[in-house]
Amino acid sequence: AKRDGRNGCQVFTPQTAPMDKIRLGLESALHHALERDELRLVYQPQVSVVGQHFVGAEVLLRWKHPVLGWVSPTVFIPVLEDTGLIEPFGEWVLRRACQQYKRWLDDGVVGLNSKISVNLSPRQFRQRDLGERIQAAIQDTGLPPTSLALEITESTLMYNLEQGAVLLRQLRHLGVSIAIDDFGTGYSSLAYLKDLPIDYLKIDRSFVKDIVTDRNDAAIANSIIGLAHNLGLKVVAEGVEEQDILNVLADLGCDQYQGYFFARPVVADELPLLIAGCD
Ligand code: C2E
Ligand code: CA
Ligand code: CA
Ligand code: CA
Repeated sequence: AKRDGRNGCQVFTPQTAPMDKIRLGLESALHHALERDELRLVYQPQVSVVGQHFVGAEVLLRWKHPVLGWVSPTVFIPVLEDTGLIEPFGEWVLRRACQQYKRWLDDGVVGLNSKISVNLSPRQFRQRDLGERIQAAIQDTGLPPTSLALEITESTLMYNLEQGAVLLRQLRHLGVSIAIDDFGTGYSSLAYLKDLPIDYLKIDRSFVKDIVTDRNDAAIANSIIGLAHNLGLKVVAEGVEEQDILNVLADLGCDQYQGYFFARPVVADELPLLIAGCD
């Protein structure tokens, strides 16, 4: 909708009016999602190239709207981000995921050298006390800090590189790992890679999905893997859907994989079975 700055009157255009209404509806529904217990976490395994054994899981947020049913995070995460709700919701995700992973560690479901990966949105990353919040989540749940990895995109990091650098060093000091998510899609310089304590680059699915047939995608993946290894970083490929894709990535020397070929994201109860099937 176009806003008239002088009298605050809104003029809806046919294309944008429905979208704005949908957004407003989602926004008010999201306000109650936490207290109404409509949020769920799902976990997607990550496996290593060697023996394809379990090396960790990424936690992904799910929301069941009372009427619409399951809403994609690509729809509701931006609304959470714009409204600021991502701060409490993100903290909920972090704490729940740490708690769950600690339980799996205690039960021997996962190993001490595996990690739970949690996504951090741009707005979360800008929170001044984020380092303290992460530290508190670790302490309160008893999760070893080395069992936690945080995923941020390049643009999240670039938005405030100075504050971001301080935070990353604080996290490294704690023993928490950092992954750059959707790597290669952010149009940013690579200079930050040599100065900051980063552990993983995640190759975006857009370079992975056609890698078998598209030589340019293969060239990009090859370059990312070479760059990462020269800098002492590990590479995770996301969106691995087929054996052929896995074969190409394995030939290029990719370290870890995540994707439907191995497993879709699953609820906590189902993860132990998946891991048992991995080894
Ligand atoms: P992302 O961080 O890049 O997460 C990977 C997405 O790829 C997930 O979508 C996952 O389900 C999907 N995926 C995994 N393997 C495959 C595959 O083989 N093929 C295809 N086509 N897709 C695959 P999802 O769960 O819909 O999440 C979408 C995005 O929403 C995430 O992208 C992330 O940016 C955001 N998101 C999800 N949960 C959270 C959260 O707890 N916090 C924040 N800040 N963002 C989240
Ligand atoms: Ca991610
Ligand atoms: Ca990603
Ligand atoms: Ca992606």
